Amino acid sequence: MNDAQLLTLTPEIKDQLRKSSQDHKFTHGHALILCGPTGHTGAARLAARGALRVGAGLVSVATPHEALAENAAHLTAIMLTEVDTPEALTATLMDARITALCVGPAFGIARAGAFLPAVLAANRPTVIDADALTTLASLGFDAVHPACVLTPHAGEFKRLFPDIAANIDAAAITGAPHSKIDATRAAAKRAGCTVLLKGAETVIASADGRAVTHGAVGGRAAPWLATAGAGDVLAGMIAGLLARGFTPQDAAQTGAYLHVEAARVVGAGLIAEDLPDAVPHVFRALG
Ligand code: AMP
Ligand code: MG
Repeated sequence: MNDAQLLTLTPEIKDQLRKSSQDHKFTHGHALILCGPTGHTGAARLAARGALRVGAGLVSVATPHEALAENAAHLTAIMLTEVDTPEALTATLMDARITALCVGPAFGIARAGAFLPAVLAANRPTVIDADALTTLASLGFDAVHPACVLTPHAGEFKRLFPDIAANIDAAAITGAPHSKIDATRAAAKRAGCTVLLKGAETVIASADGRAVTHGAVGGRAAPWLATAGAGDVLAGMIAGLLARGFTPQDAAQTGAYLHVEAARVVGAGLIAEDLPDAVPHVFRALG
């Protein structure tokens, strides 16, 4: 089964992205972005800005005590909450108004190992990216639930699904088409959740076999995205959409779409910081 839809936004999704005059900030959810230690906090802030720009009502960064000042120096509309232990995270998540999580960007592998069980036990819509994917590769998929979105790049995908990734490599040698689509579908089925495989050709697949790609050739790929932190912004955008109540597949697709279009607005010279700020231009073009 090689067919996959080309990534677009349906009228229903465009409608869901709009805000109505009846809304208030609590209508659009609260995304919590988990932040790593001092000196590694930029990734969480990039993700948080991505989440806020796609319209999450509230965004908080959960930071270790040691990085409070570092984060506070750079954040304004984004709130800070101190979280030093998995137990503190569980306590924070007693607040049912936190509607989505993002874990992984520059989080630290040891830290991800300690926190991931608590993150998954919260059973909240969750983006699992970067260092949290590395942890997941050793933890296995038992605790992964259908409201998760995994966002590996090729290297992270290989660590998570080595046998499935080997099929991509084999198909690349024989020239078989669409191997990435088949691989992402197989990965989503195994993990039991949505998987977004990043790269020049990004593919998003659900456990039920749905798959979309923005396509490398003839599609909307934006090579300027190959820059530090671009993936962190994407993780945050997806978390923001999850917080707003988008389904995992819709959040991953819509996040990937807005991310690429934002990159196209900026063009050559893009750095990750530009992406969240370009989102309003993308919304304007959507009408
Ligand atoms: P990460 O590897 O986590 O920093 O994520 C990189 C982001 O840039 C992902 O959204 C990728 O899909 C995108 N990306 C990386 N390389 C390319 C490329 N050559 N063309 C288009 N997009 C890319
Ligand atoms: Mg990354």
